[in-house]
Amino acid sequence: MSKKEEKKKSLSYEAKNGYELISDKDLKKCDELNKAYMDFLGKAKTERESHDEAVELLEKAGFTDMEINKRNGKKLKPGDRVYYSCEGKTLMAIVVGKKPLEAGMHIVGGHTDAPRLDVKQNPLYESTGVALMDTHYYGGIKKYQWLTVPLAIHGVFVKPDGKKISISVGEDPEDPVFCITDILPHLAADQYKNNIGTAVPGESLDVTVGSIPSKDKEAKQKIKENLLEILNKKYSVTEEDFLSAELEVVPAAKPRDCGFDRSMILAYGHDDRVCSYTALKALIDVKGTPEYTSVVLLCDKEEIGSVGSTGMASNFFENASAELLALTADEYCELSLKRAMSNSWMLSADVNALMDPLFPSAFEAKNASKINHGVCITKFTGARGKAGSSDASAEFMAHIRRIFAKNEVIWQSGELGKVDQGGGGTIAYLMARYGMKVVDCGVGLFSMHAPQEVAGKLDIYMAYKGYNAFFMDKR
Ligand code: MN
Ligand code: MN
Repeated sequence: MSKKEEKKKSLSYEAKNGYELISDKDLKKCDELNKAYMDFLGKAKTERESHDEAVELLEKAGFTDMEINKRNGKKLKPGDRVYYSCEGKTLMAIVVGKKPLEAGMHIVGGHTDAPRLDVKQNPLYESTGVALMDTHYYGGIKKYQWLTVPLAIHGVFVKPDGKKISISVGEDPEDPVFCITDILPHLAADQYKNNIGTAVPGESLDVTVGSIPSKDKEAKQKIKENLLEILNKKYSVTEEDFLSAELEVVPAAKPRDCGFDRSMILAYGHDDRVCSYTALKALIDVKGTPEYTSVVLLCDKEEIGSVGSTGMASNFFENASAELLALTADEYCELSLKRAMSNSWMLSADVNALMDPLFPSAFEAKNASKINHGVCITKFTGARGKAGSSDASAEFMAHIRRIFAKNEVIWQSGELGKVDQGGGGTIAYLMARYGMKVVDCGVGLFSMHAPQEVAGKLDIYMAYKGYNAFFMDKR
């Protein structure tokens, strides 16, 4: 390369394919991490299951329940590892840092809820020889994608006396699965008149669950009756128990390697368990005692606007931080809490859309993230004129560049589609309210919110590596 060419190269910037940059050592670790991630993802099909799997991983790594400290008043000291649960759905995991909490935390926050079909409170009916369950979709789905794919049902029944019955049907190869039927092309003349958005009405997303009638001669709806008999025998529940149940219909498949070169993972629920898992693992792998208190947030309800008591818009995080302050400081003080919040740095760990070669017109190629070009930093999200975005500052972007460069994290910049094509948001803006520095940082996906999404393995590993470097940074 001539001097002139060298100069030119150093002046220009273009994100490269990470596989051309990654070291052999990292490549090996990348494989290991992705195997562990696929195992987690295959078990964590709902927010409750993600929570429970996460707690299991944390406890194995020496984390204990902060509720115990809260109850007995036992203070926390630098290096201590604890977690704090919210209703068995949202979870906060903490490694106490050397500096007082007032100096701020380093937070990586993702979400563990994913688009799905929720079973209604009075779901069962039968029609023309078939029993079905009525559902209400959760999150932004393209409804037509959910027809004719194998489905599983996960969730809980809670009896009035508090007894909880967990169910999971459709994951074991011996289990039955469920499905939503579609009309055959031969008879689809009416369906074809609709556009893709209206062809499948939400109310018609009903899951086929049975077709054998009960032997009970008195029963009015014999097939439905037979199902109730099966459910009662297996789970000791009645039709009334659906009133206090949370049952989620999700794709029945396990995560699979994708591509001849196995460089991708095809799976349900990457959004946002891919960032949640890598954040959790990055925290577990924090070496020694970090300078700043490191926090992972795995929250619920992001897909429907972070609402409700387990969503990021609730006071859960603020209350949990107050508890943490009370357990780490000599004396609890409101001003210290406000300072802890506003001095914090956060990576809002959520997915972004990858440049899709089949839909190039939705993206602007220079600024769209590309598969396996590294973990994706998204300075701003939002729609139209950046509406709803929390637009990170150039100063904070510069800190992230510094941390990632120092730790050989392969990363790229991304945006959510070309201008005026649509848009979206994450939990970033909810955290920015406290005055903390926040930027979106996560893994790019193909087919986001589809029953099967695609993520790049190198991107997944670099998310882990980036989050870990962020926790260890001394500013
Ligand atoms: Mn998400
Ligand atoms: Mn989403």
